[in-house]
Amino acid sequence: MRNSLHKNYVPPPPPPPYFLLIILLPLSVSCLGRAQDHRTMTSYSGTLERVRRSFSEGKTRPAEFRMAQLEALGRFLDEKKTELLQCLKKDLNKSTFEGEVTELSMVRSEINLAINNLSSWMKDEPVSTSMAMYLDSAFIRKEPFGVVLIISPWNYPILLTLIPLVGAIAAGNCAIMKPSEITQNTEKVLSEGLAQYIDQDCFAVVCGGVEETGSLLTERFDYIFFTGNPMVGKIVMQAATKYLTPLTLELGGKNPCYVHDDSDIKNAARRIAWSRFINAGQTCLSPDYVLCSDKIKEKLVEALRATIQEFYGEDPKQSPDFGRIVNDRHFQRVAALLKNGKIVVGGQTDDTEKYVAPTILLDVVESDPVMQEEIFGPILPILTVSGLEEALQFINKREKPLAAYAFSANSQIINQFLDRTSSGSFCANDGIVQTTIMTLPFGGVGHSGMGMYHGKFTFDTFSHKRACLLRSDGREKLNEVRYPPYSEGRLGFINSMTGVKRKGGCVIS
Ligand code: NAD
Repeated sequence: MRNSLHKNYVPPPPPPPYFLLIILLPLSVSCLGRAQDHRTMTSYSGTLERVRRSFSEGKTRPAEFRMAQLEALGRFLDEKKTELLQCLKKDLNKSTFEGEVTELSMVRSEINLAINNLSSWMKDEPVSTSMAMYLDSAFIRKEPFGVVLIISPWNYPILLTLIPLVGAIAAGNCAIMKPSEITQNTEKVLSEGLAQYIDQDCFAVVCGGVEETGSLLTERFDYIFFTGNPMVGKIVMQAATKYLTPLTLELGGKNPCYVHDDSDIKNAARRIAWSRFINAGQTCLSPDYVLCSDKIKEKLVEALRATIQEFYGEDPKQSPDFGRIVNDRHFQRVAALLKNGKIVVGGQTDDTEKYVAPTILLDVVESDPVMQEEIFGPILPILTVSGLEEALQFINKREKPLAAYAFSANSQIINQFLDRTSSGSFCANDGIVQTTIMTLPFGGVGHSGMGMYHGKFTFDTFSHKRACLLRSDGREKLNEVRYPPYSEGRLGFINSMTGVKRKGGCVIS
């Protein structure tokens, strides 16, 4: 069994008392990684009880505690940087550059932003009141939910575990993290390393896969934050119904990328290739397929071919900057998609290295598997459409994607695309980079998810907005108007004091 904490786990016979003392002292039952001694814990309820007790005692609420934990998380990133980057290399052949730019630096920025703004984010927000409540104080209190569960995937295993954690800490919650079991090296350093930095009574990492996550989901949480594929999202949402647990679902899908005839093809090719082939195509925001007209198709293919060679050399397999597919199962799945359409660039594979070359496919049809499922690998199908109108029809008959992209030199084309499609995010003339703007929310819509995070949005996600009204216990005369016996006069008075009056129409610009 991979995980030492599965519910049905039967512990070995008790060790002699002196041995028990030795193993219990250094463990202090917080980090639940495989490397920890499994004798300390046989079910998640013990961990949850401990963490819940800390929350009930109010340990995570003071701003000073939140600040100290955020600082500690920052130290973890800084001091374990080399180790974390090595893990990403081992798990995904992720280059140091990509590891730092797309994971560590982004988490660092989120921590810094939270530290810089914590006290203003935490402040009660006063709101205006009606005339009837003029003398009272009404405000929104940002209250932590309690114990939150963060389940994350393997493609950006540090980023997608720690950004939600930053918001959970900043908002005053306790948190249980469940990183992906697939990126084992990163999972290990998160489970063992984090416990050395952040408070073990308030935060814990649980290791394991499908079975363990299933068991964890039977427990009661106050919020669930899930990132992964839509199928598993449904399982998580189903589990959340048991206790009506609020949740965020950050899911995936097929992100369309429309290239209009008037685009700067060379620039478009460079930006599309970068956003498709970064992390070997295993990025939820990557353009999943391109739509363009027959007129520019060949030119675009040639520009993509030249770009791939410029980025990764004659043989991308030798490039230190090109990643690998995460495991054999995904390698087999991605490699099988190469049977669709016609390979015009790339197409080489090597199962011993889980290598799939950056590949461009033409002549793909809608019913091909490569157009039915999220590719999540370094393959880019190009489909032809007559122009913007057909592209919009193609996109709009599918599920709403996590991101949509349009390339054009004409702002009217871009605006039409923006107005007539829906997606979690949109970027004109580039790919993925919208996610680096922390003042923009990150999240899906419909099939690509619900809820949002990044920057202050993460703090808001993990905060319950409690509606508060503070009234005086005197001034009873002012209340009499609402009490029986009711009368027409009292009704008129209440309406005049509480109703919202029309001020005339707003100006539609
Ligand atoms: P996944 O859904 O298979 O796994 C995510 C997590 O769920 C893992 O921790 C895993 O252990 C757990 N899990 C898997 N199967 C489960 C089950 N049956 N029951 C309970 N728990 C289960 O996703 P993945 O393969 O790790 O990641 C790829 C998917 O995630 C893609 O669809 C991608 O688009 C999506 N993704 C979305 C975002 C986003 O921010 N929207 C970011 C990254 C990845």
